[in-house]
Amino acid sequence: MKVLFGKNGIIRRLTALILTCMLLVPAMPVSTYAAGGGVYAKLVSLKNKYPEGYFWNHLVTTTTNDGDSLLRRRDESFANSVTSRPCATHHGAAKPGQYDCNYFDGGLQCMGFAKKVFYDVFGVRESSLPKRYDTGNLMVGDYVRINGNTHSGVVLSISGNNFRLCECNFDKDGAHHNCLIRWGYVNYNKSCISYFKRASNYSAVDTVNLTMSWNNPRGSIGERNATIYVTAQANASGRFTAASGTLYDASGRYLASKSENAGVNGSKMDIWYNIATELKKNLQPGTYYYLRFTCTFSGKTFTSPYYRFKTAGQKAVAVQRVTLSRTSAVLFRGRSLKLKAGVYPANATYKSVTWTSSNKKIATVSASGTVKAKGRGSCLITARTSNGEKATCRIYVW
Ligand SMILES: [Zn+2]
Repeated sequence: MKVLFGKNGIIRRLTALILTCMLLVPAMPVSTYAAGGGVYAKLVSLKNKYPEGYFWNHLVTTTTNDGDSLLRRRDESFANSVTSRPCATHHGAAKPGQYDCNYFDGGLQCMGFAKKVFYDVFGVRESSLPKRYDTGNLMVGDYVRINGNTHSGVVLSISGNNFRLCECNFDKDGAHHNCLIRWGYVNYNKSCISYFKRASNYSAVDTVNLTMSWNNPRGSIGERNATIYVTAQANASGRFTAASGTLYDASGRYLASKSENAGVNGSKMDIWYNIATELKKNLQPGTYYYLRFTCTFSGKTFTSPYYRFKTAGQKAVAVQRVTLSRTSAVLFRGRSLKLKAGVYPANATYKSVTWTSSNKKIATVSASGTVKAKGRGSCLITARTSNGEKATCRIYVW
């Protein structure tokens, strides 16, 4: 198995190769596993929506959409808005043409922002939840109120008694910064927590159903070898740590397998196996086989469908019977006899035979079947095909 980081590598490799029939049978259900980390993944994904260093505010266009007016009307229409400009007055009523704070779920500035981020992660309003004080159980994604009930944020990371927030409007120097958005910028101690809130659906949001789909099976297939490719695609980011390929014959009997380690971060990995060099198996021409892959991703092992493929060329017709023109003969020393081999069926793919003598001191045999009597006694001359079919002639030498 090798890994390619990008499509170009594979396309370049494939252009020179012959593609023959590649069938996918049967389609299998995609396996899924439950794993944690969904809250953190959702929270971090909001960095795109609320970027570090931007401001959670909006451009005031009329005298009725400054921050104070939004608060009075409980108007959440600017709750998704960020700009690259700080609030002009921040607390006051900004004038048209200036920037001012947004509102959400009963809060302006840091409080509204934390409530909005919390809502974006869980779909639950912070205002609907009870206060908690058991800060030893604080978790990523919790809404916290800190510093004597003056500041809010959503927990981004926890390390021992310290934690960091997704927050706006507060900075390391302790000053308010006009709705500036920060991701983990300040290291807080849990002793500053006034209270926190946990989403009622926390475990449901944190559970990720990890799925793996197997895409674009393709191959370079010859008469006696094949390289089969597939792309394993997960529905989340993680780390691929292992892969394997297992070969079966047309009736599903195990033929060969290879497993190995991988080290790929992301959600996608190309896997392929060269059957001759990696699975150490020589294929027969014109014959169906199955190959099946596994990959280990975020600690779970996923198994692909069975991919059926057919090697190029014609399936070999096996020799079933060999005859010789004589089954026994008597020769004087120095004389020769030409034996002729009959190989059946007549359309057998590999019809050639090799000749051997059981005792070269009595009689030798040439590559074309000519027996030469050498010394007194008897021996066996054998004609044998590559698949082991044979016939013998007993030679008596006088
Ligand atoms: Zn503001």
